Amino acid sequence: MGKMGLLGICFPEKYGGAGMDYLALAIACEELERGDISLRTVLSVHVALTSCTIYQWGDDKQKEKYFVPQNHGKMIGTTAMTEPSCGSDVANITTRAEKQGSHYIVSGQKTWISLAEIADNFLVLARTGESGYKGLSLFIIERDFPGVTTTSLHHKLGTRAGNTGELFLDKVEVPEDNLLGYEGEGFKICMSALDNGRFTVAAGAVGTIKAALEASVRYSHERKAFGQEIGRFQLIQEHLAHMQAAYDASQLLVYKVAWMKNQGKRNTRETSMAKWFATTHALDAANRAIQIHGAYGYTSDYPVERLWRNVRGACIYEGTNEIQKLIQGSYVMGYRKYKPLRCEMPRYEP
Ligand SMILES: Cc1cc2nc3c(=O)[nH]c(=O)nc-3n(C[C@H](O)[C@H](O)[C@H](O)COP(=O)(O)OP(=O)(O)OC[C@H]3O[C@@H](n4cnc5c(N)ncnc54)[C@H](O)[C@@H]3O)c2cc1C
Repeated sequence: MGKMGLLGICFPEKYGGAGMDYLALAIACEELERGDISLRTVLSVHVALTSCTIYQWGDDKQKEKYFVPQNHGKMIGTTAMTEPSCGSDVANITTRAEKQGSHYIVSGQKTWISLAEIADNFLVLARTGESGYKGLSLFIIERDFPGVTTTSLHHKLGTRAGNTGELFLDKVEVPEDNLLGYEGEGFKICMSALDNGRFTVAAGAVGTIKAALEASVRYSHERKAFGQEIGRFQLIQEHLAHMQAAYDASQLLVYKVAWMKNQGKRNTRETSMAKWFATTHALDAANRAIQIHGAYGYTSDYPVERLWRNVRGACIYEGTNEIQKLIQGSYVMGYRKYKPLRCEMPRYEP
């Protein structure tokens, strides 16, 4: 993927990127997930959550040291927010970072971290101040820093070709130069990272719908019942019609966000909507695909049960779909509004 330019697909060539835009990132995510979700996950955590965040908030030294090699695929990045007792309620994490001279001493545990055993760099959210979201800061922590260890999580329902694990930080000395943004900006930066991560999850889900549809159409031609292809039955066609509508609508939501991102427009609400809608409909499409395959759909002889298991996770990570609904509700009510950020994501320059 690095050699193909996928790991820096949407970044300018002067930073080692492929010079393409957010629509290209969306199409890459759709096509990768059409194959397997584990490959799309690499773009989500490496490109969207980690590299986009350093691009948006990092200083020149951080960009040169981490962003450029990440775009070439020479370094792999991931982002660690979740802790054993804290996922959705990320403002209450307990990993601590204490300032000592020109370093921070970071201790804590992160879990459910994609690519934990593979990544070279971790964006780690830690508490530097008061309780609540204002006391959080974000650090770039290298795997080689003494005190960093990782383990893998096993027996996941899906995403089995992708690594997910835990990150342990035992009094890790992190240079102050590795603070991303300012002290106290960590929560805000993580939320901006999710605007990019969720976009890729939504785009990937479009690929799952496509894969479910393709497998179902193929099977509906092959399988015969009552003397004809099952695709001739209107109730099978109803499933296929729902899947096609889900594909078209989800892809349009994703492309709308890509268009907004290319112009440097804020897109938190639109991205959250795309993620909620596309993953929910991808799960439904995979479920319908299993039904169309009958008993064979309930085995690993056909790809559709894997699609269902994989995309089940996408309804949970990068904000559960309950959290996405809360986001929609609060924008609709006017409780949330777009406010300018200190560092806006740069618009795409052809
Ligand atoms: C395969 C996989 C990969 C992951 N990769 C990463 C990664 O790379 N980095 C990372 O930091 N994290 C990662 N995660 C973690 C993921 O982001 C969290 O699991 C997710 O945010 C939910 O947190 P939780 O599991 O602690 O659930 P909880 O927050 O404990 O939620 C439990 C349930 O309560 C609901 N709930 C919680 N709060 C509310 C509320 N206010 N209103 C209504 N319902 C609510 C939730 O929707 C959910 O149904 C990954 C998870 C998976 C499964």
